[in-house]
Amino acid sequence: VILHDLVDTYDHAYELCERYITTNEQLITSRIRESHRQIRRNTLWVALYVAAVMAGTAALVWFFYASVVRPLRQMARDAQAFAASPGMPISPAEVEDELRTIGTHLRRLMSDVTSTRTDLQASRERLSQAEKLASVGRLAASVAHEIRNPLTSLRMRVYELQREWADHPIYSEDIRAVSEEIARLDDTVRSFLEFAREPQLALQSCSVAGLIDGALELCRPRLVENDIECRVGADVGALPAAWVDAQQVKQVLVNLILNACEAMPAGGRLTFGGRAVAVQAGRPLLQITLMDSGQGIAPELRERIFEPFFTTKATGTGLGLCIAANIMLRHGGSLELVESNPTGTCFAVSFPAVSEEG
Ligand code: ADP
Ligand code: MG
Repeated sequence: VILHDLVDTYDHAYELCERYITTNEQLITSRIRESHRQIRRNTLWVALYVAAVMAGTAALVWFFYASVVRPLRQMARDAQAFAASPGMPISPAEVEDELRTIGTHLRRLMSDVTSTRTDLQASRERLSQAEKLASVGRLAASVAHEIRNPLTSLRMRVYELQREWADHPIYSEDIRAVSEEIARLDDTVRSFLEFAREPQLALQSCSVAGLIDGALELCRPRLVENDIECRVGADVGALPAAWVDAQQVKQVLVNLILNACEAMPAGGRLTFGGRAVAVQAGRPLLQITLMDSGQGIAPELRERIFEPFFTTKATGTGLGLCIAANIMLRHGGSLELVESNPTGTCFAVSFPAVSEEG
């Protein structure tokens, strides 16, 4: 009986041990499974974190590139393009080194600004000088106006005296001199007033040949007196109608013809030519050329002849060419010296034609 009890107890103990082992094994398996799950979860988290960090870094890099590097590059390129514009030497700097390039151009820009400031100061001074001159000009014009009236009465009185004393052995010569000087003064004052005022243009369609004939007609006595032969080229008649203020263009031509007469005291030839030179604002630009066979203009004086009061003549006013050039400029044309040499001088007067559309 005791042995039988022992065997029973042993069996029971064995069975308990078996169950313990099984339970343990189950526990271990479940723990291992749990750990695997944990590891997988952690791996996912780490992967997500790494991805987020990478995305953040990429965004930062892009932001830096877009907001700093790209504008910097653009600035460097712009600065180089600016430097390449005329008047500035092109620097050998490469675009790769943007900051250095920008630095170079920025310094150049600053020096440019300094020189611009200096220029601005200089032109301001010139402008105030011009304003002063303009006010002096206005004053001179009013003085000239005031001089004209007493001059007229002087002329009339001298004329009376001249009639009275025409045969006087001593006074007649003096009176003639006074009368001549008064005429000269009157001429200067008249020219000056013409120069100072800026009359409106009365534009109209007129024939170029008609303008030349009208001017020649006005100068006829002078041309005959100086023994000057005039020729008007066939090309003048072929020109289209001009769109000008006929009175004023005639005045320009008269000025040029009189100058030519004065350049040919012993006679000579005056030749007119004409051609269409260009198209300006839809209108053809016409040109009359005036060629004389006079003594010409010395090379060093050529650039001064359009200056007001520049004259080489004892009794000249020096205003003729200046006024004439001004009139042509207001027509949208020009008056130019084409050439001059000891055998003659050629001037060109340009002005618009009547536009083709009418
Ligand atoms: P002015 O005739 O009163 O001297 P202008 O303005 O008409 O003034 O002319 C300026 C100067 O240009 C003249 O004094 C003369 O020296 C020169 N000049 C103009 N036209 C001619 C010409 N056809 N031939 C030679 N010299 C000329
Ligand atoms: Mg003149």
